[in-house]
Amino acid sequence: MSIQENYNRIKNQLPSDVELVAVSKTHPVSAIREVYDLGQRVFGENKVQEVTEKYPLLPKDIQWHLIGHLQTNKVKYIAGFIDTIQSVDSEKLIREINKEAAKHNRKIKVLLQVKIAEEESKFGLEISEAKDLFEKYLSGEYQNIEITGLMGMATFTEDQEQIKKEFLTLKNLFDELNKFKKLETLSMGMSDDFPVAIECGANSIRVGSAIFGRRDYSQ
Ligand SMILES: *Cc1c(COP(=O)(O)O)cnc(C)c1O
Repeated sequence: MSIQENYNRIKNQLPSDVELVAVSKTHPVSAIREVYDLGQRVFGENKVQEVTEKYPLLPKDIQWHLIGHLQTNKVKYIAGFIDTIQSVDSEKLIREINKEAAKHNRKIKVLLQVKIAEEESKFGLEISEAKDLFEKYLSGEYQNIEITGLMGMATFTEDQEQIKKEFLTLKNLFDELNKFKKLETLSMGMSDDFPVAIECGANSIRVGSAIFGRRDYSQ
């Protein structure tokens, strides 16, 4: 199926209040342009170098989301233009984003990435760490960031109950934090599991291969 068919099929099955982040990592600017021309404005990339290369070549009304692990020494390269950093997994990183955003006289939206998967390899905050960070944020410590929500990735498994359990863990935390400050975004679900994620309360999903096709990492 073509990119256009993929995109329209996914858009048509999404409830109107669920945001789609089109994950364009490894795909060329031409493919992003094609999806942009269909009306998509929010794109996700997981590498600083890749997003800084693509950004100048594409329309300025694209909202770029960084969704991959971010090293503190690279924040400065994206602080001037990134819309949202979804992969905030340490206090050190929050402080750095806050500092670099201040230099650009702007506020950067961030999501706290929470570890919900059983797999060892995944980045993310423990639930208790996420709560602590959020508390610091509420006390007014970081003036140049806005925590707008939470992001999580489920275990890569066929076991739907396992996936559901993990998503619901994040939804519970979202509801809990939401009592203290209104949060906009619960980002969970990718190409293979976004319908379950939406069922569990996600209002933002990150979809790559189901739109752009399989990624080729060989080049
Ligand atoms: C690559 C990536 C996605 C999209 O994955 P697909 O399976 O291609 O939809 C979503 N979230 C994160 C954090 C990613 O790195």
